[in-house]
Amino acid sequence: MVSRVIPVEVFDLVIFGGTGDLARRKILPGLYRRFLAGQMTGDSRIIGAARAEMDDAAFRKTVAEALEEFVPEKHRDPATVRDFLSRLHYVAIDAKGEGGWSALKALMRPDVVQAFYFSVAPALFGDLALRLKSHGIAGEEARIVVEKPFGRDLATARALNTTLAQHFEERQIYRIDHYLGKETVQNLMAVRFANILFEPLWKSEYIDHVQITVAETVGVEGRGAYYDKSGAMRDMVQNHIMQLLCLIAMEPPYHFDPDAVRDEKLKVIRALDPVAPEDIVRGQYLAGGGQGSYLDHSENPTSRTESYIAMKVHISNWRWKGTPFYLRTGKRLRARASEIAITFREPPHSIFDDAKGWRENVLVIRLQPDEGMNLMVMIKEPGPGGMRLMQVPLDMTFADALGAEHAETPDAYERLIMDVIRGNQTLFMRGDEVEAAWAWTDPIIGGWEARGDKPQGYDPGTSGPEDALMLMHRDGRRWRDIR
Ligand code: NAP
Repeated sequence: MVSRVIPVEVFDLVIFGGTGDLARRKILPGLYRRFLAGQMTGDSRIIGAARAEMDDAAFRKTVAEALEEFVPEKHRDPATVRDFLSRLHYVAIDAKGEGGWSALKALMRPDVVQAFYFSVAPALFGDLALRLKSHGIAGEEARIVVEKPFGRDLATARALNTTLAQHFEERQIYRIDHYLGKETVQNLMAVRFANILFEPLWKSEYIDHVQITVAETVGVEGRGAYYDKSGAMRDMVQNHIMQLLCLIAMEPPYHFDPDAVRDEKLKVIRALDPVAPEDIVRGQYLAGGGQGSYLDHSENPTSRTESYIAMKVHISNWRWKGTPFYLRTGKRLRARASEIAITFREPPHSIFDDAKGWRENVLVIRLQPDEGMNLMVMIKEPGPGGMRLMQVPLDMTFADALGAEHAETPDAYERLIMDVIRGNQTLFMRGDEVEAAWAWTDPIIGGWEARGDKPQGYDPGTSGPEDALMLMHRDGRRWRDIR
C-alpha cells in the first residue's frame, strides 16, 4: 500500500519563537519530514523570528542541529537537508517592539499562502496579532496558529479571543490541540462514521462506561514553575482529554466539514454536567525511584497543584444519560499509555450454563505508545469439554495492519501544519469551543480552591492515588491496567 502525499500550495510560514523548544523539537523537524515526503513543493519558505540577533546562516545552523537531534539519521540525507535549509530565513523581531517588522514585510510574498505560527508565550499573542496588522503584513487570507495554553480560565480565554478577533477573523485563527492531529484520534471518526457496525450500539443502552486515560512516566522536572500554575486539570483535561471525549460522544456531523464537526463537539461540551467533589480525585506524586517529588520541582513548597486527576463525568443528553465517562491523567505513573476504552454492556440473557469466562466487549483505541485498536470479543475456548468462553482481542496495530509504508505515520504537528496551509480548520478548536470547555472547568477548579482541597500523595511508578481506584470500585467497575 503506497502512502498518498498531496502537495500543498506554495507558502510563507513565519514561526515566531522559531528558536524555542517547541520549534526545535516539533515544528521544524515536522516541516522537514513533510519536505522529505514531497509535500512542501515549489519555493515555499519558512521564516524564523525571535528577539535574538542572527542572520539566515546562523538560523540554518541552529535548525540543522535541531534536525540532527530530532530526526533519525536514516532520514537525513545531506542533500535533502541542505535543500530544506536553503528555504529557511530569519528576522530578528521583538513582539513588543517595532523593530524588524519592515524587514519581515519585505520578505513576505502577497501571492502565496501566508501563515504565522505563534510559538511564543501566550502573553505575546496579542502583540503579534496587533503588529502583523498594523505593519500591513498579514493579508485578508493570512492564517495565524496559536499554541496552548489558550487562557487559564474562562475570563482569560475570552479576553484572548477578543484580542485576536480585533485583528483576525475566526476563519483565520488555528488554535492547536496536537491531540487532534494524532492518526488514531482521526481514526476514531472514521471508525464511528464510516462503519455501520458501531454506530447503532454507540449509546447508553449498549455502552456501560467509557474510560479515557493519558498516563505519563515523566514528572514535571524543568517545567515546575510553569506546571505549578496549571496542573493536570488545565494542562490535560480542559483541552486534550475534552477533545477526545467530544469525538467519542458527539452526534454524527452532517459532513466532515470544519464547522459541522465543531458544532457537534460544542454541543457535547455544553451537555457536560457539573462534577460533584466526590467524583474527583486529585493527586501529587511523592519522591521515589531515585527521583524527587512534585514539591521538589515546584517553586512553591506547599503547592496544591495536582499532577494527577481522575474524575467521573456525565453527559446530559439522550444518547449518553446513564453512561459515565471516567477520565484520568497523571505524571510519574507506571507506564506511558494513552487510550480510550469503550466497555459495552452484558448481553440481556446468557444461553450458556457456565458463563464463568464471560467478559464485557471492550473497544480499546490506543494513542500511545503505539497507535491502534483492539476489540475484545468472546469466543469458545478451543478443545473438547463443553462450551467454555474466553475473551480474545481482535487486534489492529496500525503499523502491522498497514505495512511498512505506514509504519511511521506523520507526527501530529506535521499533519496540523499542513492543514493550516490547506486552510482546513476541522482539527483546530474554535473560539466558542475553548470558552465552553473553560466554562465547565472553572467551577470545578474554583470549588477545590475555595475548599482548600489538597491533592493526595501517590507513589511514582504506580497507577495513581488509592482513592482513584475507589472512584471506580464503588460503581462496581475497575480501571484498565496501565502498562
Ligand atoms: P521557549 O523555548 O521558551 O521559546 C520561546 C521562543 O520565543 C524563543 O524562540 C524566544 O526567542 C522567543 N521569544 C521570547 N520572547 C519574545 C518576544 N518578546 N518577541 C519575539 N520572540 C520572543 O518556549 P516553547 O517551549 O518553545 O513554547 C512556545 C509556545 O508553545 C508557548 O506558548 C508554549 O506554551 C507552547 N507549547 C510548548 C510546548 C513544548 O513542548 N515546548 C508544548 C505545547 C505548547 P528569543 O528569546 O530570542 O526572543
